[in-house]
Amino acid sequence: MSEENKSIHEFDFKLICEYYSSIERQGPGSPEVTVKALSFIDNLKKESIIADIGCGTGGQTMVLANHTSGHITGIDLFADFIAIFNANSRKKNLHDRVEGVVGSMDNLAFQKEELDLIWSEGAIYNIGFERGINEWYKFLRTGGFIAVSEASWFTEKRPVEIDRFWKDAYPEIDTISHKVYQMQKAGYIPIATFVLPENCWIEHFYVPQVSAQENFLKKYAGNETAEELVRNQRHEAELYYKFKEYYGYVFYIGKKV
Ligand code: SAH
Repeated sequence: MSEENKSIHEFDFKLICEYYSSIERQGPGSPEVTVKALSFIDNLKKESIIADIGCGTGGQTMVLANHTSGHITGIDLFADFIAIFNANSRKKNLHDRVEGVVGSMDNLAFQKEELDLIWSEGAIYNIGFERGINEWYKFLRTGGFIAVSEASWFTEKRPVEIDRFWKDAYPEIDTISHKVYQMQKAGYIPIATFVLPENCWIEHFYVPQVSAQENFLKKYAGNETAEELVRNQRHEAELYYKFKEYYGYVFYIGKKV
């Protein structure tokens, strides 16, 4: 990559981070859903070690922290998100047991069987669900849990417009039963799955983006990257409103045996 291209790329990257930093969550979810997923997990104690992979700015991590007493490491590829994460953790006085570090989910620095719980909301798609649950398995102790949310089809068939969109965005999107099968094949007991309610997409994700988009377009008027980013986000939201009975996010909770 030439120096010029590299700096353009870095500028785009900064813009994308800035856009997502202005909203509390970088993917669909809600505090209620985080607490519900946690309700299927037992045996957590003060000594427990938890990883939140692809934590973003830590919206769900702080909820997790308020309902557990162990040590939580949040990992995200983007340093800007981790800076906000650590500022949030300090503000909430959780910094002695909730710590954000920059890292990649395909190269985690944990020891074998070190973790009691692996958490990941709306992020495992970055390396793919099947690869993620298989590669992360070794970091969990026997009896430990994994809880991830993932885009899934609700039905066997769906309109071609939404099928095409997702096959292009994330070809690994699949039915709930298929994802449960993959989890069992990877060595976990499938403990629970549940569909995230629509408010996780609407009130907690797309609605906060409306004013964020207006501010962003004002600040970066005429900037191609900013305009394209907003266009894509608006398109994605429109598709959700139109086709939400066919797909959504699903929480998958498994236990290592
Ligand atoms: N869990 C958060 C963020 C979800 S968005 C929430 O639910 O609000 C997906 C996150 O994955 C982003 O923060 C993105 O920076 C992060 N990410 C993307 N690729 C990654 C990788 N290879 N390793 C770690 N994090 C990654």
